[in-house]
Amino acid sequence: MNHRHLLPNEIDLLVDGEAGFGVAPLRAHVTECDECRARLDDARIVVDALENLPHFAPDSRMADRIMAQVPVFVPAHVAARDSVTRWLPQSRPARAAAAVIGTSIAGLLTVAMVWLASRGDAAIFATSLLADRVQSLVMGTARDLALSLFGESAVAAVQASGALGVTLLVLLFLGTAVGTVLGLRRLATASSRRA
Ligand SMILES: [Zn+2]
Repeated sequence: MNHRHLLPNEIDLLVDGEAGFGVAPLRAHVTECDECRARLDDARIVVDALENLPHFAPDSRMADRIMAQVPVFVPAHVAARDSVTRWLPQSRPARAAAAVIGTSIAGLLTVAMVWLASRGDAAIFATSLLADRVQSLVMGTARDLALSLFGESAVAAVQASGALGVTLLVLLFLGTAVGTVLGLRRLATASSRRA
């Protein structure tokens, strides 16, 4: 037989009506010990009183009201990512489309900057052989790329609008390709995260 009095956590077990291994000796002690029975009765009175208290729930807007007054430090990269996420469409095909469009626009901007730079170079180094050679190298590479990607007829058609048109077309194509790859990767990661 157990000859020591019950510990507070053992009285909690009895109050909660636990029926595990080891509770039976505690119960046996309570039936024999007046002191522990009195403590158990007191604990039951307290628990019943607590149970009968009205159950309050916090206002659903409480967290928002509190957080509105809490200065939260957001790192720049997190803020940038959040604002990008806010502007991105929610559905996955729309996101892929947005990625393609965004990359195409970025590609067009790059083309515009390259064109402006080459124009600036031409103005400053009008007589410089280097500027001409760099420019012809860029245009030649762009033309070769366009040839391998689109074939002779497409290049011939675009050549009417000059080498700049070829460069534009190639970079637009590259931008779209990169955008498609990024969009597909986003789709893959999104679906694998969901799986
Ligand atoms: Zn006792």
